[in-house]
Order: sequence, then structure tokens, then C-alpha cells
Amino acid sequence: MNDRQPLRPPKQHPCLWMMTTIWMKSSRKELLDVMEAAVCDATASVTFIAARYRTPFAVFVSTVVSLRTRDEVTFAVSQRVLSEYPDIKALAGADAGDLAELLKPAAFYHNKSVSLIDAARQILGRHAGEIPTQIEDLLALPGVGRKTAQLVRAEGHGLPAICVDIHVHRISNRLGLCDTRKPEETEKILAACFQEQDWIRVNRVMVPFGQKVCAPVSPWCSRCPLQAECPRIGVARNR
Ligand code: SF4
Repeated sequence: MNDRQPLRPPKQHPCLWMMTTIWMKSSRKELLDVMEAAVCDATASVTFIAARYRTPFAVFVSTVVSLRTRDEVTFAVSQRVLSEYPDIKALAGADAGDLAELLKPAAFYHNKSVSLIDAARQILGRHAGEIPTQIEDLLALPGVGRKTAQLVRAEGHGLPAICVDIHVHRISNRLGLCDTRKPEETEKILAACFQEQDWIRVNRVMVPFGQKVCAPVSPWCSRCPLQAECPRIGVARNR
């Protein structure tokens, strides 16, 4: 059990609270550096695919595959799909049943198959076959929510964007960077707290940190390099 009294940031000004906290005063970039050093051997699957294939198309496919799916499954399935359908034209011409077979055992593989093919056809028709860069255009595609759109912008196009998934949302609230319920609220606060040049790193660093250290149910606070400073907000038990 956590025997500390958690310090709750004021609801209206979580970023202000963060900035007045001594350990945050030095640099928010340092926070990412410390987390990164703790999980230096780990990379999220979409980041890995982005580095390997270096195309927005590959990132788009793997991001859709990754929804509610474990990293190791995302990685294997994405490679299978990209090998069979290497570009947007091939994907647009895919048979939904064949693609669904390739997508197994990713979660919702039937829905993802239909969404990926529909999205590919819309990208061909409306965007000349190029994966859009604008959030609004990405959000208009089937199967694409805000998290997917931000990740495609960041990892696919290298544009500044903060993708708030469950790990980023949870860790940010535990650390007191924000006091939010919805990922969209977290995204806004993190965008104000971190410099634009560090936005892409927020997801890259916090996802493996959330998988290896700041785990969902019982975080490894005893192994965490932030244990002395972290207020552990909302943490009922830890290891
Ligand atoms: S001290 Fe615990 S709750 Fe805080 S960031 Fe580290 S693992 Fe997460």
C-alpha cells in the first residue's frame, strides 16, 4: 500500500501546480529522459514499425491494428498485412475476408478489416493515395479516432502531435501533470506542459514506461526512478 498522502493538484490549474513543484521546475524534458533511461531497451510496436518501414502507410496500418491489441500481436500482424498489401492501392483492392484472416488474432479483426479497406479507398479517392497529415482529414476516415490520428501524424509524418493512449493518460494523472478523466483533456494539458519539440516523445517514452514500470493495476514504484518525487495520485497499491 502507498503510505504517502497524495498531493492533489488544483483542478483548474494542474499545469501551474506542476510548474511550482520543485522536481518539475528543472525541466519537463528531463522527466522524459528519466523515464526513457528506465526502459531503454523497450519500444512500442507502432514506433518500431515506423522505424522499420519509414512510411506513413505502414504506420497507419499498424496503428489501426494496435487498437486494443497487445504489442507483440500488433507487430506480427502488421508485418503480415504489410507484406501482403504493401501500399494503399493493394489495400484498397483487398478482400475483406482475406484481410480479416491476416489480421487474426488482433482484436476486432473483422471490423478492422472492413475499416482498413474503406479507409484505403477513401484515401485513394480523396487524398490522391497519400495518408493525410491533418487531424480533421484523418478523423474523417473509418476506424480512425483521435489517438490513431495523432499517432499517424507523429510517427507517420514526423509532425508534432501528442498521442494520449491509456498509458500516457494514466501516468500523467499519477504524476500530477494533469487531473483529467478524458484523454482529450490530458492531451490539451500535456501540449501546454511540454515543448512542441518533445510532443512525439511523450507517447514514445510513456508507453514502454507504462508497460514496464508504471503498470496499470499495481505499478513498480520500488523500481521507479521517480519514486521519491511522484505523488502517486490514485495509486491504491504498488510493488
Ligand atoms: S512512482 Fe509509481 S506511480 Fe509514480 S511514476 Fe513511478 S511507478 Fe508510476
